[in-house]
Amino acid sequence: MKRDYSLETLAIQGGFSPEDGESRVAPIIQSTTFQYHSAEKVANLFALEEEGYFYTRLANPTVGFAEEKLATLEGGVGAIGTSSGQAATSLVVFTLCQAGDRILAHSNLYGGTMNLFTHTLKRLGIETDFVNIDATDEEIEALITDKHKLFFTETLANPGLEISDIERFSKIAHDHEMPLVVDNTFATPYLCRPFDFGADIIIHSSSKYLDGHAVALGGFVVDSGNFDWEKSSKFKDFVEPDPTYNDISFTETFGNSAFILRARTNYMRDYGVMMSPMNGWLTNLGMETLAVRMDRHSENALKIAEFLEGEEKIQSLKYPGLKSSPYYDLAQKYLPKGQSGVISFSFESREKAQEFIDGLELISLVVHVADVRSHILHPASMTHSQLTEKELEEAGIDPGLVRLSVGIEKVEDILDDIKKALGNI
Ligand SMILES: *Cc1c(COP(=O)(O)O)cnc(C)c1O
Repeated sequence: MKRDYSLETLAIQGGFSPEDGESRVAPIIQSTTFQYHSAEKVANLFALEEEGYFYTRLANPTVGFAEEKLATLEGGVGAIGTSSGQAATSLVVFTLCQAGDRILAHSNLYGGTMNLFTHTLKRLGIETDFVNIDATDEEIEALITDKHKLFFTETLANPGLEISDIERFSKIAHDHEMPLVVDNTFATPYLCRPFDFGADIIIHSSSKYLDGHAVALGGFVVDSGNFDWEKSSKFKDFVEPDPTYNDISFTETFGNSAFILRARTNYMRDYGVMMSPMNGWLTNLGMETLAVRMDRHSENALKIAEFLEGEEKIQSLKYPGLKSSPYYDLAQKYLPKGQSGVISFSFESREKAQEFIDGLELISLVVHVADVRSHILHPASMTHSQLTEKELEEAGIDPGLVRLSVGIEKVEDILDDIKKALGNI
């Protein structure tokens, strides 16, 4: 599909293009394997001399339609579907880092990413230096060493809703010969395309807005194709002969797709964190309505945030679409079409937050955000419950904080539910 259509059109028609007599809707190829009639052909596939499917751990046509659609939406050269968002982040780290290397990351990331970076990767000898999202260039640069292989940020942070100044951070990353990796889960490519601001690699938890209906766990890694792996002194293994593939050099053989191909051929091969065909199909279907959903999520969330702003039972309120938000200017730059559906606000205590949650009827208590239904959760006792008090504070999460994921129901119904629950406390 031509890429010069608008995002609204590409979300629907990108990815799968049927030939004569094929199904109009992307089919599910629910098969682990693919048949060939020549041994030489299969040998060529294994040697990366020809392209084709042979085993679903490496690639599957249905997952491929979703990968192609998302790569088109983000403006990248290629994407890989993974079994979850966590798997996408892990795959990026495994492709770029080895024991002894370091990651530079913002300290306000999603709780699962924080655990992965702080504890699990440390066991493998990969350590992370965290820096505040509002730190100056000098403060950030003071942390960077030759060992740092990537800078990791979230476009719109979960759950603090800070907005990352992607242009500024990509410049710092590039000055130190490393890629900027952006978790674009909360923004989605409809609201922000990080590659347009200098990001090099994007990850998604497609379990959120991309699927949009809370039916399929999944993730994606997307490659901009813009990072110069040959010029950087930090990624010799992308340039030097790879003994597991006939001593080919990935940069020489695959040019600006070196990263995404190496992620698939070496690390998807070895770690096996592939998206299933069924989840690829569901995610592809969900992405078709991304544009209309994101408009409505953003519109509803702004109305609710404006209502909450005048409520005295609420101590603090975070929504970057509000003029009073310290991130309002960055929101206008990076998310001009809308600031997505998640609002964080806090009550004076953990107990009051729990009372409010228990008083809701329409808005449901689930450990999920970013789908068509309105949901609420309490980060300190749920998603971020494994963080220490100090880590909670650094992540901007106080015990009375709740995270509301505004759905696409009629906004008056959502507001009525909130008003009633506020009246009870
Ligand atoms: C949910 C989430 C993840 C992890 O994704 P899973 O699909 O749950 O593994 C990563 N980043 C952000 C911003 C998320 O919201």
